[in-house]
Formats: sequence, C-alpha cells, structure tokens
Amino acid sequence: MIILGIESSCDETAAAVVEDGCKILSSIVSTQVEVHHKYGGVVPELASRMHMEAILPVVTQALETAGITMDDIDGVAATRGPGLVGALLVGFSFAKAFAWARGLPWTGVNHLEGHIYSVFLGKTPPSLPFVILLASGGHTNLYHVTSPNDFELMGQTRDDAAGEAFDKVAKMLGLGYPGGAVIEKLAAKGDPGKIRFPRSYLDKEGFDFSFSGLKSAVARHLQQRKEPLTPEDVADIAASFQEAVLDVLSFKLINAARVKGCRTVALAGGVSANTALGRRVAKDAAARKMTLALPPLSLCGDNAAMIAARGHRLIQDGTLCQLDHDVFSRTRV
Ligand code: ATP
Ligand code: MG
Ligand code: FE
Repeated sequence: MIILGIESSCDETAAAVVEDGCKILSSIVSTQVEVHHKYGGVVPELASRMHMEAILPVVTQALETAGITMDDIDGVAATRGPGLVGALLVGFSFAKAFAWARGLPWTGVNHLEGHIYSVFLGKTPPSLPFVILLASGGHTNLYHVTSPNDFELMGQTRDDAAGEAFDKVAKMLGLGYPGGAVIEKLAAKGDPGKIRFPRSYLDKEGFDFSFSGLKSAVARHLQQRKEPLTPEDVADIAASFQEAVLDVLSFKLINAARVKGCRTVALAGGVSANTALGRRVAKDAAARKMTLALPPLSLCGDNAAMIAARGHRLIQDGTLCQLDHDVFSRTRV
C-alpha cells in the first residue's frame, strides 16, 4: 500500500511517499527557516503563505523522486495537529482535495504520533513495548508505547520544551534561530563542567520536565558577566547548558523505562538529532541492559515520511477522515 504523506504544521512543507508503512520511496522537506530566521522565530502568517507556495512543488517532487504517478497512490495522510492552524490548513486541505478528487481513503495524523512513528523508519526499529522521549521545538513528552495505537503520556514539560530551551539560549548568546544544531556544535568545543547550571528534576520519581529555570540561570550568568564573552566562554556556556539538559532528559527516560519494565528506549523529535544526547542515552541505557532506538537523522525534525508511516496504520485500521473534519492547534486531552 503506497501512502502520500503531507506535513505542514510549522515551518517545514514536506511530502513523502512510503510503501507499506516502512519503505521510504521519497521524503522531500522544504524548510522556511531562512525566512523566519531574521524574526528570531516562526511568524505564523508568513508560514501559511509559504506553505501555499510550496505545497504543490513539494508533492510533485515527492512523486517524481519516488518514480510514481498519482495513479499509484493508495491513500493520503496529512498532519491534522497540533501546530499552527493556518499552516496546518494548507497541508490538510490539500490532502482532503487530493483524496476527494482521486477517490482515495485519507486520514489526519497527530503530529506527535508522527514523530513517534519516525523510530519505526530507523535501521533498528524498536520492539514493543518501549518508552520514548519526544523532544522537539514545542514538546518534551515521555510516552509508554504498548501497541501501534497506544501511547500513554507519562510526563511532559511544565513550561519550555527542550528544543525551545536550546533556541532561547542560542538567542541569548547571539547565535540566531533555530539554536539546537549551533549549540551542539559549539558545545563539542567547550567544557561541560565549567559552569554548574541547575538541573530541574522536579519530583525525581515523576516524569514531568521544566526548563525555564535553566534558561533563567543562563540569562543570569550572562547578566552577571562584567567582561565581554570570548569564543571559549560561549563554547563553555553552550557545553554546560547542554550537559544540564542531557542529564535530565536521559535520567527521566531511563527511569520511565525502568518503572514500566521496558528493555527498549527511543528518542524522537528535533532534539533527538543531537548526537551528544544519543551517545548519553545509549550509554545510560546500556548500563541498565536496555537498547536505544533512534530515527534516521533526516527524520528527527519535521518530515512527511513519519506522517505517511502513521497514516498507513490509521488507514489500514479504517480510522479515516471525512470532508467536514478540521485541523486542531493543540492536542485534545
Ligand atoms: P513540535 O514537533 O513539538 O510541534 P517542531 O515540529 O517545531 O515542534 P521539531 O522540528 O521536531 O519541532 O524540532 C525542532 C527543534 O529541535 C528546535 O527547537 C531545534 O532547536 C531543535 N534541534 C534541532 N537540532 C538539534 C540539535 N542538534 N540539538 C538540540 N536541539 C536541536
Ligand atoms: Mg521546524
Ligand atoms: Fe515536530
């Protein structure tokens, strides 16, 4: 079964063709990051307009790269939420129209469940059950995944998301937006033990996160500095900040798996592109005889292959959307 996946929840317009839920025939991502860069964050109205311009070329390229035509598509899956409503509407409406015109089954995918499905597209897909940390620009969620359709939310951030913390600290250091990859690169040259930033475990047995205190601690550190920062100072701050984030993320993920009796842990979302995080969790997992599953690097951030993979399962289960269905900005609880 060949699924056309479409993603437009934030600032990436993406389309992918995936066969049988796991074989990626194409995955095209058109990012708007350059446009939003100068504003220091995503401007929703600009994002919507750019999705409108990009959607058709991106879908066309996905079909061409896969070497198929519209006739070969068996179903369509588009991100339904959470995300920016105006941005979501572009991809979701496109999928709706495409499926209606072609008489195809179609479905709306929860973006976060899409991120979870990105690990099934990796080299070593996790076996069920497992615990996964979804760390992205808008979320830091821990899920206990017990079946292809059961994602128990064990904990989440009470304030900033992990990726958001990376972005805000990068902004404070004058490194631009988005900040995750830049911080990681600088951190590799710095001393992670140089500054002892606070680790917010909240209740150590619990699974919620908080990153706003860490962000404020970095801001205070910068305010208290009298002399201008040298490149070495910036690298040390990046490394010390990243170390504080990794300590908490890895601890909570491993502890959640231990509590659930899972032998497999996984990472997903933009922050899972951080190789230092991957190394840390792999090490901590090995110490507990657990294994780590990661998405392919190209599928850590937003993409449509993960949406097609999740959509494949939903379409197979008969969980379809109707023409009067709409997008949603936040996950309904
Ligand atoms: P959500 O999925 O919660 O709706 P989003 O789709 O905007 O949010 P993603 O695209 O999954 O989020 O991830 C983007 C985030 O990942 C940004 O905050 C970015 O800074 C962060 N990120 C990307 N690469 C890295 C890295 N190497 N290290 C740390 N963070 C990173
Ligand atoms: Mg993005
Ligand atoms: Fe995302």
